Amino acid sequence: LTTADPVDEHRICVCVRKRPLNKKETSLKDLDVITIPSKDVVMVHEPKQKVDLTRYLENQTFRFDYAFDDTASNEMVYRFTALPLVETVFEGGMATCFAYGQTGSGKTHVSFYSGNVFIARDVFLMLKKPSYKKLELEVYATFFEIYSGKVKDGKQQVQVVGLQEREVRSVEDVLKLIEMGNSCRTSGQTSANAHSSRSHAVFQIILRKKGKLHGKFSLIDLAGNERGADTSSADRQTRLEGAEINKSLLALKECIRALGRNKPHTPFRASKLTQVLRDSFIGENSRTCMIATISPGMGSCENTLNTLRYANRVKEF
Ligand code: ADP
Ligand code: MG
Repeated sequence: LTTADPVDEHRICVCVRKRPLNKKETSLKDLDVITIPSKDVVMVHEPKQKVDLTRYLENQTFRFDYAFDDTASNEMVYRFTALPLVETVFEGGMATCFAYGQTGSGKTHVSFYSGNVFIARDVFLMLKKPSYKKLELEVYATFFEIYSGKVKDGKQQVQVVGLQEREVRSVEDVLKLIEMGNSCRTSGQTSANAHSSRSHAVFQIILRKKGKLHGKFSLIDLAGNERGADTSSADRQTRLEGAEINKSLLALKECIRALGRNKPHTPFRASKLTQVLRDSFIGENSRTCMIATISPGMGSCENTLNTLRYANRVKEF
């Protein structure tokens, strides 16, 4: 239980994680266009063609707090991103960790497949430390989704659907809650992946002291960022969803930036997502971490560049 990075003044951490080429990409002979030459640099080598048809690679370089290549494990990514924030929550702060990227790039893999379990594990480990034990903290957890859909009367509305916050006394309790949340998430959906790419999923661990909020950790598996571009789709429903996702991802960027600059005005009212996370953005002791996940293939180049540009804008100045 050692944090790779000691808790410091740094309020925003932005990291990039590249996944390996998958079977489909390999079978289609898709090229890996991403290199991670050092632990904080990502390079995109985009194949281009000159007017005389000669080919060349356009190289673009981005720098982040950390860059993880396709050999990094989920646990390794966790140690450098979310783990330092677990301590923040015990110190009475608000911590938020986002997985951002295109559908299929590894957001769920890093957040809801592994990150939530590591967080739960370490919260219960840290609870046993003498300095925290004496605080007599109670642990609560919740799991819900935010998405834009049609309500009964046919109107489009942003909805928050999920589990009630409940007390958890062990890692096993949290795992059960996650399992329950996951089954709510997929039931009634024709395609689980199609649904998750259009919704933001939120997992929270809340620490209370005599019933009063002490600290909160929010882990968010964001909607696929390529969905925000669906605003010109022929299908009205898809277009409305795309516009909503676009709005929430823009609002999120502005809220994180405001946090980094200690700006008095945080525009959290601009979307349901940022409204729900309001107390994490305006808290005195708030820390945020973004894990931007990218696909390595040439076929994903445009989405990858969009992800890297967004993550770049979120960085502290
Ligand atoms: P997203 O949630 O962004 O749509 P997923 O997390 O579902 O993407 O990942 C898509 C697929 O790729 C899954 O089958 C997942 O197991 C796999 N995958 C994602 N990231 C990695 C990784 N770093 N290493 C190995 N497999 C990965
Ligand atoms: Mg997913």
